[in-house]
Amino acid sequence: MGQSTPAKERLMAQQSPSQSKSNRFQSSNAEPLLQIKDLHVHYETADGAVKAVSGVNLTLYEGERLALVGESGCGKTTLALAIMRLLKPPARIVQGEIILAGRDLLKLDEEEMRLTRLQEVALVTQAAMNALNPVMRIEDQIIDGLVDHGYEETKNTFRKRIHSLLEHVGLKANVARMYPHELSGGMKQRVGMATATALQPKLIVADEPTSALDVVVQRQVMTTLGRLQKETGASVVLVGHDMGLIAQFADKVGVMYAGKLVELSPVERIVQEPLHPYSDLLLQSVPSLEAKADRLVSIPGMPPRLIDLPPGCYFAPRCPMAMPHCTQIVPELAPTRDGRYVACHLFTEPSTTAAGEVKA
Ligand code: SF4
Repeated sequence: MGQSTPAKERLMAQQSPSQSKSNRFQSSNAEPLLQIKDLHVHYETADGAVKAVSGVNLTLYEGERLALVGESGCGKTTLALAIMRLLKPPARIVQGEIILAGRDLLKLDEEEMRLTRLQEVALVTQAAMNALNPVMRIEDQIIDGLVDHGYEETKNTFRKRIHSLLEHVGLKANVARMYPHELSGGMKQRVGMATATALQPKLIVADEPTSALDVVVQRQVMTTLGRLQKETGASVVLVGHDMGLIAQFADKVGVMYAGKLVELSPVERIVQEPLHPYSDLLLQSVPSLEAKADRLVSIPGMPPRLIDLPPGCYFAPRCPMAMPHCTQIVPELAPTRDGRYVACHLFTEPSTTAAGEVKA
């Protein structure tokens, strides 16, 4: 694994010096902010259960930025919405725990969860831009959210607070009096971030927050999200597909395949030397303006049907490194000698691997 390609070299060059020095992944002794334990999410269909998330274990500490990556349908957005408890039928959380600051979110009743959203965990999505009410001024929409969480202040006090929120996301105070149609896509996304961080949540879940924006605005929005994270100390779970943006933003990367976490690594390590064959192919397939077409690698085959998963390693039918036992024994996510986590028989003895809590 870890063959150097123009794409990987470009991603390494895009990392900030502070990321390269970051060692939070391996050294944190603090209490975890978020623990996901053996989470399973199914979509119940007439043909059977579509296993969108299968036994994900994950731990995130205060102030960490985790990016979840993988092809479409790998379960990353389902996982993000499960954390928010915003999945709708036919999706169903079948098993597991999502512990945020010591409370299992799956045990809260609807009212407790409604109050927890925004107050402790907030969502920023691509759809947030279009979720703004077209006939309400921006300030009234943000005030609605605050009042909904029990805040009672004078209009002037609310306004001061909203101006400060808007400034934090790089918008002028006069945006508060505007209607959504007066704002560009990037401005609307920043309003979404201002709304999401109005109550200083401990965790921000950002689900493809930039995918509807042009490249320049994408970078501005990610810079704003990074600044907000630093200022508030919140942790971030970012769902994304642009490895360039992720390399610049994240502390660590979780690679998902067919509903499973197959690798969890500090961003600089995975960019330099991905361990899982799928991570390696994913990084090699990143397009680059400088790369010649014949050096781009595509991932062979298609992901498995989640309603009919193959035995053993789900990636085996597409894996260039597959061994005979790969199609029989499920590789569990297990720590490597350098403190990373990978679910692949190339790195662990299949007879000795065991599912365990993943600590970062
Ligand atoms: Fe490939 Fe086997 Fe590793 Fe799966 S377990 S990724 S098939 S080498």
